Amino acid sequence: MSFTDFLNDYVASNKDAAIASLQECLRIPSVKDEETVAEGAPFGKACADALTYTLDMCAAAGMKTVNLDGYVGYAEFGPADAAEHVALLGHLDVVPPGDGWTDGPWDAVIHDGRIWSRGTQDDKGPTFAGVHGAIALLQSGAELRHRVRLIFGCDEESSWQCMEHYFGAAGQPMPKLAFTPDAGFPLYHAEKGSYTATVTRPLSEMSAGITAFTSGLRPNMVPDKATVTVADASVVSHLRTALPDATESSEGTIQVTGVSAHGGAPHGGVNAAMLLATGLATATGDAAWTALVELCDCDGKGAGIDGQDDLTGPLTLNVGVVNTVDGLLEVVINVRYPATWDESVLQRSWDNLNERGWTLVQFDHTAPLHVPIDQEPVKTLLSVYRDHTADMSAPKTMGGRTYATCVQPVGVAFGAAMAGDPEVAHRPDENISVERYLQCIRIYGDALYRLANVAS
Ligand SMILES: [Zn+2]
Repeated sequence: MSFTDFLNDYVASNKDAAIASLQECLRIPSVKDEETVAEGAPFGKACADALTYTLDMCAAAGMKTVNLDGYVGYAEFGPADAAEHVALLGHLDVVPPGDGWTDGPWDAVIHDGRIWSRGTQDDKGPTFAGVHGAIALLQSGAELRHRVRLIFGCDEESSWQCMEHYFGAAGQPMPKLAFTPDAGFPLYHAEKGSYTATVTRPLSEMSAGITAFTSGLRPNMVPDKATVTVADASVVSHLRTALPDATESSEGTIQVTGVSAHGGAPHGGVNAAMLLATGLATATGDAAWTALVELCDCDGKGAGIDGQDDLTGPLTLNVGVVNTVDGLLEVVINVRYPATWDESVLQRSWDNLNERGWTLVQFDHTAPLHVPIDQEPVKTLLSVYRDHTADMSAPKTMGGRTYATCVQPVGVAFGAAMAGDPEVAHRPDENISVERYLQCIRIYGDALYRLANVAS
C-alpha cells in the first residue's frame, strides 16, 4: 500500500478522534497570562496546559517528546541514526478572544460543518492537522531518510520567547527543511521584515483633565476598543459632540468601538485608538492626539516610512496598544516592511519618528524572509499541495511574520487557509471547516513524508 493510500484510510477511520482531540485543545484558553506564570509555565498556566496536552498526545502515539521548560516542546520520530530532521513548527498560544462571538470562544462547538473557536485557524487547527498527519506517517511504518520533528511554540502571538528559547538557551539544532502551517496555501516563500517599537511623547497641559487612556491588547492586532477617563466636564461634553457613537459607561468614562483585524493587514480593521484620538484632538486641542492620529496611518506615511517593493508590496504600520503613563502617551507600533529592504529602515524610522516628536523606548526586530521558488522546501511543498488540490496557483508572499523567519532559509509558511476561506484569524467567530481540517491532515502527512525523504 502506498503512503497516500494509507493516509486516506487513516483519515477516514480516525476522523472522529482527530476532531475530538482538536476540540479538547481548543477548549484550553491558551492566551498568554502573566498572572499565572510559574516554573515550567513562562507564559501562564493555560499555555503550559496546551503544550502538555499536545505532547502527551504525541507520546501516546509513540513519539519521543521533550518539553523545553514550558516555552516550547517537540515530538520526534524516525530513524535514530539519521543525522538531520525535518520539522513542522506550529504554535499553541492564541490571541485574546475579544468580543462579538456567536458561540463561546472556548466552546469549540461544531455546526454548519465548521468548528468554531479561537485558535481553529491560528494555529491549533493547522498544527493538529500536522500532528495527525505525523501520527499517520509513524503508524504507516513508511521508510524515512530523516527524522521528523513537530515543534510546538507557546509565545508566537506575543514576544516569540518560545523560539528564542528553542534555538538559544535550549540549544536545539536547525532543521534540514521545515514549514509552518500558520498562513495560507499554496505557500509563502517571502515575508516582510518587521519590528515592534514602543514610542512615547508628552501630553500637553491641554490634556490635564484626562485621567487615563487605554486601547489595544497586542501590537499585532488592530484595537477594537479604546477608553478614556476624563475629569474635565467641558472636555467630556466636547467629546460627546465629536464622537456621537461613543458609549459612556460611567460619568466621564467614554468608550469607542472600532473593528479588530490582524496587525499585518491593518487596512482591514478600524483602529479604535485612532477614532478616540480624533475626538480628543478636537476636544482638547492637544497636538499629541493629532500626532497619534497621524501615526495610525496604515501605510506608515504618518511615521515618514511609507514605501513598497515588487516582491511583497507596501509597508504596513499598526498602532496596536496605546496607554497614558505618567503624563506620557505610550504607543506600541508594529511595522512590516518590504522583504527586499535592508535594515537601514530601522534608523530611518527612529529618525523620522524623532522628527515628529516621538521618543523610541524599545524595539524588537525580525529580518525579512526570502526563499527562492526553485529551492527546497518550496519545490516539494508546492508539488504536495498541487497533487492534493489540483490548484496550480503560484507561491505567494506576505506581510509575515511566521515561524519560517526562525528557520530561514530552509523554511516557509505552508497553509492552512485556502482561497475562499473566511479570513477570521484574530477575529470573532474564528472557525475552520471540518473538511479543510481533514484535508490538511492528508496534506501535512504527505508533506512530512516527502520532506523526510528529500535526498541529502
Ligand atoms: Zn499564528
